[in-house]
Amino acid sequence: MKLARRTTLINPSPTLAVTAKEKQMKAQGIDVIGFGAGEPDFDTPIYIKDAAKKSIDEGFTKYTATSGIEELKKAICQKFKQDNALDYEPSQIIVSCGAKHSLFNAIMCLCEKGDEVILPSPYWVSYLEQIKLSQAKPVIIETSEKYNFKLPYRTFKHAITPKTKCLILNSPSNPTGMVYTRDELKAIADLAVKHGFYIISDEVYEKLIYEGEHISIASFGPEIKNLAIVINGVSKAYSMTGWRIGYAAGPKELIAAMGNLQDHSTSNPTSIAQKAALAAISELGLSRPAFAAGTPPTEGGRMGLSPMSLMVNEFRNRRDYIVEKLNSIPGISCLKPQGAFYAFPNISKLIGKTIKGQKITGSLSLSEVLLNEAKVTVIPGIAFGADKYIRLSYATSMENIKEGLRRIEEVLKQ
Ligand code: PMP
Ligand code: GLU
Repeated sequence: MKLARRTTLINPSPTLAVTAKEKQMKAQGIDVIGFGAGEPDFDTPIYIKDAAKKSIDEGFTKYTATSGIEELKKAICQKFKQDNALDYEPSQIIVSCGAKHSLFNAIMCLCEKGDEVILPSPYWVSYLEQIKLSQAKPVIIETSEKYNFKLPYRTFKHAITPKTKCLILNSPSNPTGMVYTRDELKAIADLAVKHGFYIISDEVYEKLIYEGEHISIASFGPEIKNLAIVINGVSKAYSMTGWRIGYAAGPKELIAAMGNLQDHSTSNPTSIAQKAALAAISELGLSRPAFAAGTPPTEGGRMGLSPMSLMVNEFRNRRDYIVEKLNSIPGISCLKPQGAFYAFPNISKLIGKTIKGQKITGSLSLSEVLLNEAKVTVIPGIAFGADKYIRLSYATSMENIKEGLRRIEEVLKQ
């Protein structure tokens, strides 16, 4: 078939592919331990589900404004004010079908052929593909583990050209889990203001921080705010990956263009999911049990603690365990991530070795050995532009983490 050329520019999402494979193997009864899925394993909190059920019962089942219902946009403005010291008006907000959709629309409306987009590596898989679809040129800047995978200031400065249209920033980061400090962000913001390029700041893991604090790069004053597009959503913070609600805040003109694009592609995000997101963001449910009985974390029935703080506590415990255990396995070393729910261990000492008869040439072959021999899924680092690493999501139970790492250790010992 003669498909449009743009279809040949992009690859399938490796993160979604491994996640799908994990689910398929489990459905076939295979005892696989999944470290692939980048989604919280917790159920969506009860108060959020209730809001969705109520909206169905009340007949809130029709088209809404393409860019989202006004009350949700107002709640998002309130969230930006409260959490990020950012003042936006509803006309500067667009609600989309997931943060991925917001990112896509922002990149499509901002970048085109002839533009350069700076992308620090390791990067989350969809950024590169979306840049390619926009026909802009990705300018990848490698970061190093030695400097906590932070954008190296001097290299970054030298990569800026008159064609630089924007930088994609992701803190806390998927896949490395690192979190930029205020000073680091300020230095990046100053360069953007000086050279007049935009920053797409993906802050979807904002709430999942174990050390340090989340700062939005848009919050350093009006000049940088006019150049920043902040992307966020409810998928990670409220365990709502399937509901598909994300949002963007930025200059009115860009948000309006994204609205037009959405008008002719998806129309509004699902009406019911918008009501659920409204309840989530307004955090209406704090006086009630967070999770249904029998769903993790089961002691989440404790009143008064927000579902989010229960999740964060649990993720912190898992992170501490997984990092310590990974570092005890010969051939593997792992930095301690400060946020998100991924461990990103260095596997370079295993490259060149033969494990279970298979020569390890990089992250792909190691991931294959781990799948075939240990029945454990991980994401090969090459998907994020870093072949000497693999990514393990610790959004799975402590029991799975322990068993999965035991299996990995057993295979690697040989
Ligand atoms: N950005 C990053 C860094 C992510 O890891 C994800 C998770 N897939 C997204 C954006 C998109 O999230 P969603 O579309 O579910 O809101
Ligand atoms: N963000 C998650 C991940 O990186 C979900 C999968 C995806 O959307 O790519 O695994």
